[in-house]
Amino acid sequence: MADKISHSDEEWRRRLTPEQYSVCRGKGTERSFSGQYVHLKEEGVYQCSACGQPLFGSGEKYNSGTGWPSFWAPIEKGAVTGKADRSHFMERMEVLCSRCESHLGHVFDDGPPPTHLRYCINSVSLKFVPKEKPAGLKGAGQRPGDSPGSGKPRPRRGR
Ligand code: FE
Repeated sequence: MADKISHSDEEWRRRLTPEQYSVCRGKGTERSFSGQYVHLKEEGVYQCSACGQPLFGSGEKYNSGTGWPSFWAPIEKGAVTGKADRSHFMERMEVLCSRCESHLGHVFDDGPPPTHLRYCINSVSLKFVPKEKPAGLKGAGQRPGDSPGSGKPRPRRGR
């Protein structure tokens, strides 16, 4: 696990887009079904959009129907930390990046087996890095992230 990082509030404002800042540092929540990764099924790793630490893998992503990217486990133990959140008259468990303590979302206990956890995460808090295709296979020579034949534009970072 990489060393913890911390920046002043001013520095975070400079590094992040206003949307990222409001979610990652201000603990905001993006609108349901508005995020760029809700329906993404591509293989790869979801990093912290604020510091780059790997947080979740596509193998643990599932469709929760909530409108936010949902995972039943983090990519490795210790990638994220939990913190009791009693705001908005609810008892919830906040999920934070263990490296930079950016807000990611919340974790609930109504997920699928084997963990029965649902990490409900804002797309804005994540940066998806597609798995590189091995050389020699179909798609070789393209940049990672290009999805041949899908005809869909690639997700853009930031807004
Ligand atoms: Fe982070």
